[in-house]
Amino acid sequence: MGLQTPRPRRTQKRKRAKDAAQSVRVAPGAKRRFQTRLLKWYREHGRDLPWRKTSDPYKILVSEVMLQQTQVDRVIPKYHEFLDRYPSFHALAQAPVEEVRKTWYPLGYNIRPHRLHGIACETVARYGGALPSDPEELLSFKGIGRYTAGAVRSFAFNEDAAILDTNVMRVLHRVFVGTGDPKAQKPRLWALSEALVPKGKGYDFNQALMDFGALLCTARAPYCLLCPMKSFCKSYPFDGKKRDR
Ligand code: SF4
Repeated sequence: MGLQTPRPRRTQKRKRAKDAAQSVRVAPGAKRRFQTRLLKWYREHGRDLPWRKTSDPYKILVSEVMLQQTQVDRVIPKYHEFLDRYPSFHALAQAPVEEVRKTWYPLGYNIRPHRLHGIACETVARYGGALPSDPEELLSFKGIGRYTAGAVRSFAFNEDAAILDTNVMRVLHRVFVGTGDPKAQKPRLWALSEALVPKGKGYDFNQALMDFGALLCTARAPYCLLCPMKSFCKSYPFDGKKRDR
């Protein structure tokens, strides 16, 4: 048998996108049911968090960067302290980065204050202190990845942008996929997240997904018996011994 000609890169990319799109086809009924039940659950159980009381892109960005790898309870007091000290992109950009790092303490993962400071400097230099909402422009910032861009677009600019963090990945994988390692299925789960955002409700839907993953469909012991998705969830009843990763 002869050697196969390598598939050109663009064709491979197109094929991957096509595969991902095909593998996330969700029946319209299941999609509606998930959206409706999730939003209802959120109206009854959603958390009252300080960054949900603002649409200021700066404050939303600060909260999102702080929440990376840190629990909500630890973030709340630091979020208030940080915003009192640096209330805008301009204020943060003017502060010495070493002082910003000290203000950030004791939140761990010390690259984050540096990145946030860098984003503030770039926002001031390139956009006069107003963060853009365009996805490509957001992604061009060092320190803003696909998740943060989606979060800023939906929470600050009220756009129907998709998000996928650890919690959201876990929820979508359990409900709609049910097998394999979620981390190995990121393109598929991103496509799923995009397909599920209800038109005009991206803000509430994404906040609801995050709360649902943090409070009900938790990593170790999800509350399956209380779950509004249990009639169609592909992982119900979730077996803690066969944990997903
Ligand atoms: S039934 Fe269990 S695993 Fe499925 S979404 Fe609900 S809590 Fe998560």
